[in-house]
Amino acid sequence: MYILISNVGSTSLKFKLYRMPEEEVLCEAKIEKIGSQDGIYHYKNDINGRTHGEDSTPLDTYAVGINKFLSDLCDKELGVIASVAEVQAIGFKTVISKGFNGTVLLTDEVMAGMKEYLFIAPVHNAAYISAIEQFRGILPDTPMVGVFETSFHRTIPLRNRLYPLPYEWYEKYGLAKNGYHGASFTYVSQEARRDGDFRRIIGCHLGGSSSICAILDGKSFDSSFGFSLQTGLPHANRCGDADPYVVPFLEDQGMSFEEIREGLDKKGGLLGISGVSNDLREIEEAAGAGNERAQLAIDVFVNDIVRYIGSFFAEMGGMDKLVFTGGIGENSSLIRRMVCDSIKHLGVELDSEQNDKVRGNGFISTSSSPVKVQVIAANEELGIARETYGCLQG
Ligand code: ADP
Repeated sequence: MYILISNVGSTSLKFKLYRMPEEEVLCEAKIEKIGSQDGIYHYKNDINGRTHGEDSTPLDTYAVGINKFLSDLCDKELGVIASVAEVQAIGFKTVISKGFNGTVLLTDEVMAGMKEYLFIAPVHNAAYISAIEQFRGILPDTPMVGVFETSFHRTIPLRNRLYPLPYEWYEKYGLAKNGYHGASFTYVSQEARRDGDFRRIIGCHLGGSSSICAILDGKSFDSSFGFSLQTGLPHANRCGDADPYVVPFLEDQGMSFEEIREGLDKKGGLLGISGVSNDLREIEEAAGAGNERAQLAIDVFVNDIVRYIGSFFAEMGGMDKLVFTGGIGENSSLIRRMVCDSIKHLGVELDSEQNDKVRGNGFISTSSSPVKVQVIAANEELGIARETYGCLQG
């Protein structure tokens, strides 16, 4: 069975075509800077190695990128199938929908639920809705499955999810911790237990969005993400945890609601603190050159990671393995070193040489370290392919 997996970003699209249940990737594509005239398109046939890449191509809408990909997918030389009709299902990494969770067929009701929650996932849901609607137009008869980012966290006990707010708000609006990055942590949880039965794992997904997950016996036990995506660790542009009373305070100071939201959604996070960039590579470079605010952004980010690891350590009664994943977790030896050096007292012994070497996948703790530290390259697409296949099997 051919299953196409689509991972939608606010300005990007990633595709992988899987043969299931073999979990074989037949081809993949990455499309960046959608909405601009200098988009980046890259396609690779994983069977014959042929690629099609353009560093600068007009990509006005999601539809342009999707059509480019579908045409390569069925191309005589580049393609892996003869017709798009051979794709039996499309699986999407979806974020949140009012009234739906888990892995579900993307019906009109589920799409309406996503629209209702545009408010709490403005950047993400808008992009997903647009991409899914384009696909529905092109392939109206192909089942489309959504794997919600909140799914993995349904096992978090209510005592770890509930906010100290009027209980009626929880009943009426579902105001409690949702947790996100579910596709990533599903994969991390499976991979991290391949080399042993690790009961208490703390996973750090650090990237454009960052979160920490306490994984107890393979299930989510707690998450740094709360109700919305503007919670937990500092993100690239979005704020993390902040006192909710900053909002009424700023309103009282004369700022409009839209101005405040812009600060929380677009001008906060690593960009907000550093004033340099939302990209950690550039922040690390600026800090290395003596920029104090860039250094402060790194210090706040690391301290927040350490704080969450500490609280999840306490909640689970210890930690057997620590995992780093995501663009920063896989690549930034600096952040990994700063975090591990701060939690030596929790039993983490870093192997500095390994830490400097590992990019993507590998172990970075010493052989005698009580807590194993592993870097796992994120593979959200595989998790979504497994879920989509399972959904179609009923
Ligand atoms: P997203 O969450 O948007 O999918 P990624 O997981 O790709 O993003 O992570 C992007 C982040 O990873 C950026 O902040 C980028 O700077 C950071 N990153 C990537 N490579 C490195 C590196 N070699 N050193 C430090 N940070 C890196």
